[in-house]
Amino acid sequence: MRSDTREPPAKYIMDAHAVWDDMSILAARPPKNQVDPRRPYAYLVEPECAANGLVEDVATIFLTNRECPFRCLMCELWKNTTNQRVPVDAIPSQIRFALARLRPAQHVKLYNSGNFFDRQAIPRGDYAAIASCVAAFETVIVENHPKLCGDDCLAFRDLLSTQLEIALGLETIHPEVLPRLNKQMTTESFQRAAEFLSDHNIATRAFILLRPPFLAESEGIEWAVRSMKFAFDAGVRCCSIIPTRDGNGAMEQLRAAGAFTPPSIRSLEAVLAEGLAMRRGRVFVDLWDSERFFDCQRCGPARRDRLLQMNLTQKFLPAVACECEAGN
Ligand code: SF4
Ligand SMILES: [Zn+2]
Repeated sequence: MRSDTREPPAKYIMDAHAVWDDMSILAARPPKNQVDPRRPYAYLVEPECAANGLVEDVATIFLTNRECPFRCLMCELWKNTTNQRVPVDAIPSQIRFALARLRPAQHVKLYNSGNFFDRQAIPRGDYAAIASCVAAFETVIVENHPKLCGDDCLAFRDLLSTQLEIALGLETIHPEVLPRLNKQMTTESFQRAAEFLSDHNIATRAFILLRPPFLAESEGIEWAVRSMKFAFDAGVRCCSIIPTRDGNGAMEQLRAAGAFTPPSIRSLEAVLAEGLAMRRGRVFVDLWDSERFFDCQRCGPARRDRLLQMNLTQKFLPAVACECEAGN
């Protein structure tokens, strides 16, 4: 029986100080979505500011594969995964399926709701076929846990005729919050992975959470900025700021207990401005579903549009003025 059908243990409910481990995080989950291992669960093309400074198209293929073995407190990527390993050739078939339906793009993200170099997710025997599917792209971007950065990354890099980039979840460098995210990672292991990859000509980007649980709004901004600096110091070339969302069961419980509040779009604005001012590399803010971070419906859309333009141009743009500022 799947563990996400069980009731959460009572001791975890409404307790902001509870220790969240694999078992309690699994127990809090709502059911997964139905997915088809023969199909990517989504695919799209969108513009992004490339490493060369130009706005170029990036195809993102959300691959359907076996669930990530880690159980991070804030993660909801498991919702679109299978419980079993997908058959050999399922992943290359999914990529071919998506590429046949997408307009051309210069770069491709193969995002698998987990770690590309988890052999239970992407069979090693599929690497050559995957490399051949994406041979026409200038950059191939995959996600991976720092603990899984090793020889398999190099084997895949060697099969590609293009630049490999690996996106690593740093999440936060806050010394008390990072362990509580149950990511099984330290800042040192992130640093080692980033250095290993850059020593082997693999580009890196970091995912950084804005206002993870247990932090106030101003602390959320401060630690996102500190985490960006840390990532750039470790050799990362691009930081992507993710506003922390609920939706996975555990986060709703933390919210009800007062231990989590989603960040405001104003904090995204502050972090992007600080990140661009560093001039250490590209900085993006994740604008998917950004309406949920609006705290004023009059200026929210204009703030989102400004952030989108700042993502694309990597330049600071004049702030949005609104009557709501008077009350803040
Ligand atoms: S490693 Fe990534 S995919 Fe896996 S649980 Fe953590 S955040 Fe989710
Ligand atoms: Zn407003």
